[in-house]
Amino acid sequence: MVSVRFAPSPTGYMHIGNLRTALLNYLFALSVQKRTGEKFRFVLRMDDTDTERSRPEYEQAVYEDMRWLGISWDRLEHQSARLDRYRQVLEELKQRGLVYACYETAEELEYKRRRQRARGLPPVYDRSGLKLSPEEKNELEAQGRRPHYRFMLEHKETSWDDMVRGHCSYNGAHLSDPIIVREDGTFPYMLPSVIDDMDFGITHIIRGEDHVTNTAVQIQMFEALGAKIPEFGHPPLLTGHEGKLSKRLGSLSSRELREQGIEPMTIACLLARLGTSDPVVVCQTLEELADHFDLTHFGRAQPHFDTDDLFKLNPRVVRSMSLPAVNARLKERGEPEISALFWAAVSPNIDQIADIAEWERICSSDERFSLNEQDRLFCRQAAALLPSGDFDETTFAVWTAVVKAETGRKGRDLFHPIRLALTGREQGPELKMLLPVLGRQKTIMRLQG
Ligand code: GLU
Repeated sequence: MVSVRFAPSPTGYMHIGNLRTALLNYLFALSVQKRTGEKFRFVLRMDDTDTERSRPEYEQAVYEDMRWLGISWDRLEHQSARLDRYRQVLEELKQRGLVYACYETAEELEYKRRRQRARGLPPVYDRSGLKLSPEEKNELEAQGRRPHYRFMLEHKETSWDDMVRGHCSYNGAHLSDPIIVREDGTFPYMLPSVIDDMDFGITHIIRGEDHVTNTAVQIQMFEALGAKIPEFGHPPLLTGHEGKLSKRLGSLSSRELREQGIEPMTIACLLARLGTSDPVVVCQTLEELADHFDLTHFGRAQPHFDTDDLFKLNPRVVRSMSLPAVNARLKERGEPEISALFWAAVSPNIDQIADIAEWERICSSDERFSLNEQDRLFCRQAAALLPSGDFDETTFAVWTAVVKAETGRKGRDLFHPIRLALTGREQGPELKMLLPVLGRQKTIMRLQG
């Protein structure tokens, strides 16, 4: 069974890069399910061990964003609730001699790195901690120093076949042994993530390429714990106007995009393709989008993300929405539901869901719109020429042909006053579609003014 996970740190609002990671995991799992017919599992994991920066409101925002995108999860986990499990694994690793205590301060480590760089050496930790005798450790502790702990990497080649990057290989000798417990006893991300992925049976890890070197380290941890190594896929990070998109770029938070009228499927349709050479396909649901989704189509080059692309795509997504989908969105917004006739008339003129209410009001109100005297006379004349019977899409052409013949008006002179009389707007949906929406009574009332 395919098990994927999305592991945000609830230390800020989600930005487009986080949404992308969540979406790629979900689409990948869905696409496998579609191919094999086997159900998948989606784990939502809160990486909330940083108690100072993690906040309940950010966590709530993650849930909200996920629901908004249409991503549901089968299991929810909090790293903050699993500290005992991490301590237990840590003990085991210590006993097996795979973890060692170190006493350097952050300044001392920085000084070492600077000296290594100055000598043209890679800034890899020199394992001084490993060489300390018990007496030296006691002495350091007597001075008030507290140990932090590092995981001892094997100095060997660690490789994997990345679903995006292909064959990847890192030599442990070129990497620093990672710190897995800080001086204050807290756990940085690296080891808890591996323990969780192992305990929750994660089979595929899809995350940004900023984690590629972590993967080499984490594979060694999986091996040390005797766990099955998951498959990995690291799509390149998005770049934008502001360079690499990081959590700190609040300008692209999903909340703001939502407030600006961007539909979740707009984000999904764009992000499922950005970084591949596949064309963007407008889809109604994530299930449909998963039909065309292939992680191996992602290239190595960092795709350029431009918020404008979302605004360009959004009208296409909104206009293609089915009536039930539109009505569901309107209901969420507390706005009146609409008819199929109305949606067929106005959808080509809608850029976002919020635009619907305006046209709904125009069509349903008893408002009359002012015209100059000449146009009013013309519209009254036209009203008298309306064909009998129910209005449909053909009515407008039949009617305006008669009006043209009777009044001698044509082109803009003919259509513009009618549009103004019927909608009070210079532009808008096709009149032939609006006529049946308005119906005879309102059409006559508005033409007569
Ligand atoms: N909390 C980590 C992050 O947001 C998760 C990384 C991972 O997917 O392993 O970067």
